[in-house]
Amino acid sequence: MTSEVTPPDDTRWGPDARGRYGNFGGQYVPETLMASVTRLADTYRAIRNDRPFWEEFRESLNRYVGRPSPLYHANRLSDRIGGAQLYLKREDLNHTGAHKINNTMGQTLLARRMGKRRVIAETGAGQHGVATATAAARFGLDCVVYMGAEDVRRQKLNVLRMELLGAEVVAVDAGQKTLKDAINAAMRDWMATSDHTHYVIGSVMGPHPYPQMVRDFQTVIGLEARQQVIEQTGRLPNEVVACVGGGSNAAGLFFAFLDDADVKLFGVEAAGEKLAPGRHAATLSVGRPGILHGMHTYVLQDEDGQTSPVHSVSAGLDYPGVGPEHAHWKELGRVSYVSEDDQAALEAFTTLNETEGIIPALEPAHAVAHAMKRAKAMHADDSIVLNLSGRGDKDVVEAGRLLGRIATMGDSLDA
Ligand SMILES: *Cc1c(COP(=O)(O)O)cnc(C)c1O
Repeated sequence: MTSEVTPPDDTRWGPDARGRYGNFGGQYVPETLMASVTRLADTYRAIRNDRPFWEEFRESLNRYVGRPSPLYHANRLSDRIGGAQLYLKREDLNHTGAHKINNTMGQTLLARRMGKRRVIAETGAGQHGVATATAAARFGLDCVVYMGAEDVRRQKLNVLRMELLGAEVVAVDAGQKTLKDAINAAMRDWMATSDHTHYVIGSVMGPHPYPQMVRDFQTVIGLEARQQVIEQTGRLPNEVVACVGGGSNAAGLFFAFLDDADVKLFGVEAAGEKLAPGRHAATLSVGRPGILHGMHTYVLQDEDGQTSPVHSVSAGLDYPGVGPEHAHWKELGRVSYVSEDDQAALEAFTTLNETEGIIPALEPAHAVAHAMKRAKAMHADDSIVLNLSGRGDKDVVEAGRLLGRIATMGDSLDA
């Protein structure tokens, strides 16, 4: 289980030498950032073959994050559905409660290797900011996290966590004061500081090499899950399901199954309130190719190419772009991208609580919702592996309010 220390062989799937996955990816950055991006790509190309680096990475994941995470047969949930057996990859049990720490541990180790003493990050709801601040504290690096002023107001608890972990949180007052504006601010910082600073991007997005690098660090999810499901069931699963925001937890799970042609892969986006402009975040289902944050990929945009506003009950899926490798997998037909709305996610959230005693984050509740629908039409000896990307403590108040319970308690917790 702990023997996998090298990144996956991706000669078949990409990226190519220019950082492109088919028609997608690349490096669409201002000239002032090009030198930093190129230097990082060169460094990372060498690191991919540096065995001691990957041994240190795996060792940190095991000793500090608590890997390997269990693959759990949710038999009461499976019985309730009356179809295929559901297996949950328990990324919610990682230190800090989600898959994001796999990536921030990897990138922080990389920063240290490159001799950088400072890391910066963008964050929306604060989950990636907390995971970066955690890894920075663990390895003794300075940490600055950019966060939209609106998000700072809404996510007080995560701001406090980052500050306790020794990070400086910078509230960004530009634009809509949310994630997109935080990314722009982080990129501006990096332009001026890349000699001593590494920018830790939080998903499989941005200019090459970020999509490849983040996918490599998250592939530990799929490598473990593939081995675990074979150990537990004696064969590969019929289907594999994960939610897609930027796409890192899904990429990390899917990559290990790409060459298993009989295994169907499903990425679940947020259909929000409904699939109407501004009311969802189903980028691959509804968007069109365009350029965003340094990459060519699917983007939610209006007729003039302006990035659309997005909505989802889960902050982590609330992004108008998606990792370029997913755009490629969509065009190849290797992965099916579907969407589930707020209501379906909430129902799945409740069902998992009641049948298994597990409070999932609202992001993977979208994957649970879709897996439950798929399972219903399958046989009892079929199996589905689904990624439980994070725990739901952060969403309890919001879910309680939406479900019409603990309304007064929610209000006082929020105040
Ligand atoms: C951030 C987050 C996501 C979405 O990000 P991806 O890059 O698409 O994985 C999903 N689940 C949880 C728990 C998250 O914190």
